Amino acid sequence: MKDKKLIGPITQLLSMDQLPLKGALKDSQLSTLKHAGILVDGDKIVEIGDFEVLRKKIDLQEVRRIDLSENYVALPGMIDCHTHICFAGSRAKDFALRNSGKSYLEIAEAGGGIWDTVTQTRKMSGSELAKITAARADQLLENGITTIEVKSGYGLSVLEEIKILTSIHNANRKTKADLIATCLAAHLLPKDFEGDETAYLDWMIQKLLPIIYKEGLSKRVDIFIEKSAFSKEQALVYLKKSREIGFQITVHADQFTSGGSEVAVKMQALSADHLEASSEEDLKRLAKSDTIGVALPGASIGLGCPFTPARKLLDMGGSLAIASDWNPGSAPMGDLLTQASILATFEKLSTAEVFAGITFRAAAALGLSDRGKLASNHMADFVLFPTNDYRDILYQQGTLKPAQVWKSGIKVFDIKKKYKG
Ligand SMILES: [Zn+2]
Repeated sequence: MKDKKLIGPITQLLSMDQLPLKGALKDSQLSTLKHAGILVDGDKIVEIGDFEVLRKKIDLQEVRRIDLSENYVALPGMIDCHTHICFAGSRAKDFALRNSGKSYLEIAEAGGGIWDTVTQTRKMSGSELAKITAARADQLLENGITTIEVKSGYGLSVLEEIKILTSIHNANRKTKADLIATCLAAHLLPKDFEGDETAYLDWMIQKLLPIIYKEGLSKRVDIFIEKSAFSKEQALVYLKKSREIGFQITVHADQFTSGGSEVAVKMQALSADHLEASSEEDLKRLAKSDTIGVALPGASIGLGCPFTPARKLLDMGGSLAIASDWNPGSAPMGDLLTQASILATFEKLSTAEVFAGITFRAAAALGLSDRGKLASNHMADFVLFPTNDYRDILYQQGTLKPAQVWKSGIKVFDIKKKYKG
């Protein structure tokens, strides 16, 4: 079969190319290519250009034409750079209790909180976990998300963390989306560990991290820096040692109290995620650094908390990605586009800033330079929305669903097939 394809014509194509990694963006900076074509070879983009020009250039012996007859807007495949979708059980009870005014402590005493998810996840077999993780990834893929970061962190012992990371690895084979695994063994001190936080982190450094690095189960390490989890000092030691092994660093930072983003910048982390409680000084420091700030509006919506000060960070010259934080506790929705659209209205973000935050800036938060833009030599990952105006995508706040999703040069979702018959 021919591996080269020309897909088009596309009413509007937003390549997201030639835009800066940092700082505020105006919609006038977006280049919208009209009547566009995408020339693909295997899993990569060869060329983006005017459909007619490309059509005349190609040799039909070599290239398969895939003609589109309706109005579509093309965006790069979206990237969700922060999720916890490898979990078992539900925390619907916590959600209801929280909305009834119960405190964090009262919910934990009623058997809720992260520990509940740890208990449920430990009970589930690795193969079952892989299956439900892949099903959640497929749901995201239908919504146009072609690359998904997935954290461990509901195992909290050497064997259980390995089970979860192996499940993510196996889920990656079952779904057509790309799953990027991150080790979040430093999520919180497990109740059944005999020792303090320092001893627990030390145990992970000695026994867990070398194995998962060697086995290729994860190249990324995350830590939750918060009063209820780990301190700045503990995190610095843990992250330094992780980096020495070879891991990339990311941090759950400044969600309820300031502190984590300072560690993230100091450790030259790829990203500092959350930032709802970041101070002016935190934001300035972050804006000056190469660490990407990641807003997680799903957690703000799930908890009823303020949003990440995204506008401020961008105006200070920082980089901003937006992710769903899909998890069973604080962010159960798992709908990136809806959440990003809502963040835009509250934080006054331009369409360009939102699209950048879920494409190439999110790719940078994962240390990936081969996706997030529609350009030569990039992954042929793209989404076609059934509209002729790109502004409809955020305007409809997540209810305008992709008509087609392409991953690695292959059409992996077509809404017409989904609803046929
Ligand atoms: Zn998270």
